[in-house]
Amino acid sequence: MNYQEKLEYLISPEKFFPADIKRGSLLGNKPFIEAIGGYLDVLSESQYWPRANLEELQTARLRKFTGLIESKSSFWAEYFHRYNFSPNLAKLEDLRRLPILDRKSLLELGDKTYLNPGLDESTFAYYSSGTTGVSLKHFYSEREFLINFTVFLFRHPAFEKFSLSKLLSRKSFVVLGRPGFRHVFEKDFFYKNFPFIRSSDLENVDLRKDIYTSIRNAAPAFLVGYGSLIAKLAEWIIEDGEELPILAVRTTSEPISTFDRELIGRAIKAPVINMLSGNGIGLIGFECPSDKEFFHANSETLIIEIVGDNSEFQERAEGELIITSFAYSLNPFIRHAHKDIGQFLSYACNCGRTLPIFKFHGRREYEIILPSGRKIGMMYLYRLFSGIVMGESRLGRIAKQSQIIQNRIDSLLLLIVPRKKISDTDEIRIRLALVELFDGERINIEIKCVDVIPSGRDSKPSFFVPLSEFQERQL
Ligand SMILES: [Zn+2]
Repeated sequence: MNYQEKLEYLISPEKFFPADIKRGSLLGNKPFIEAIGGYLDVLSESQYWPRANLEELQTARLRKFTGLIESKSSFWAEYFHRYNFSPNLAKLEDLRRLPILDRKSLLELGDKTYLNPGLDESTFAYYSSGTTGVSLKHFYSEREFLINFTVFLFRHPAFEKFSLSKLLSRKSFVVLGRPGFRHVFEKDFFYKNFPFIRSSDLENVDLRKDIYTSIRNAAPAFLVGYGSLIAKLAEWIIEDGEELPILAVRTTSEPISTFDRELIGRAIKAPVINMLSGNGIGLIGFECPSDKEFFHANSETLIIEIVGDNSEFQERAEGELIITSFAYSLNPFIRHAHKDIGQFLSYACNCGRTLPIFKFHGRREYEIILPSGRKIGMMYLYRLFSGIVMGESRLGRIAKQSQIIQNRIDSLLLLIVPRKKISDTDEIRIRLALVELFDGERINIEIKCVDVIPSGRDSKPSFFVPLSEFQERQL
């Protein structure tokens, strides 16, 4: 393929996929697997394209996508007209004329934003509750979802060495928890799912044996799960002296600290794949192989903008991630905001990829609010507790599970399911580390040992409960 052909491919990748793609028919499905491989091949080149070529692609996709939904939906036609946005002439910066849609505005708009599917178009929907507790509907063409989700699930440098056709010809996934991609892959590719498992459940030797056996039967297995669960399992794998045939590990839902990554690396001799996924949007970016703190954006299929508190565009400063996706036409994501905070980096990446590179700082409102109004992101707290700062007193060593709850503006409650008796030294170290993190601001810290920590929303494990959630859920 020459450049023009690759460009055409990336503008309309769906043309290169079989017409009938359905969940339940993907396992060993040759035409589907070959098409995924073909798309990945083009992406493996476009990640090194000069920025001008990438922008040419994005502009073409923006025009095609907004033109399509304009022609099929009176809501979107009026919407574009109202904000003076012309799909057929649109430039990338014209996107900024359109409003940013946060969860609240999406809930108010309701079903109006969805398009009607074609006559034989198979669809599926699921609901996510998010931090507000009010469900938001996600609605897709099954074909569009399977193409886009699958391709970007495997767009990661670690997969360049694997045979995709082998991987997708057998049930190789062993999954801990209930990550969103079960909606797509469970039927075809899950060997075994442990949906409601919590970190503390791993104390149970029979459950661990069940997990190890599943991994051996699915060998080489693709292990997927919430970051905290995988880290805990890694501790047990070391303790049990197990060597497991694992091809790769993917952590979902929570950030993993450098410490946890090393722990997982010691227990499981396989690459740890960290990708950033958005609420219903699929995979936004993949971790850079040269610098694991940073993500490269999947810019061939979406546009990331970063905006400040007053929705102003940020070239380099920290702000909220705003996503426009070209992947899903029935549920168009046009400037969606999901309270993820990040920052673009200005320099060219060491790995040579030209895709925009950004740092992910965690979720807005997922932070401790100090009496002065200063905010400290959960990521910092997570790093503090799991990292080397705490030495022998780090929480992973003394606790089977832990949770921090901000229950007042000047008070934190730290719940610990202890592994052993917590010594005075441990307690002093924890308090000192927190005082240092808070830069001397006065916050009352209560440390309490408990038997069980309840799951958070969506039955996900939750390491931190922010003040807003504590008040809203009246915990
Ligand atoms: Zn890079």
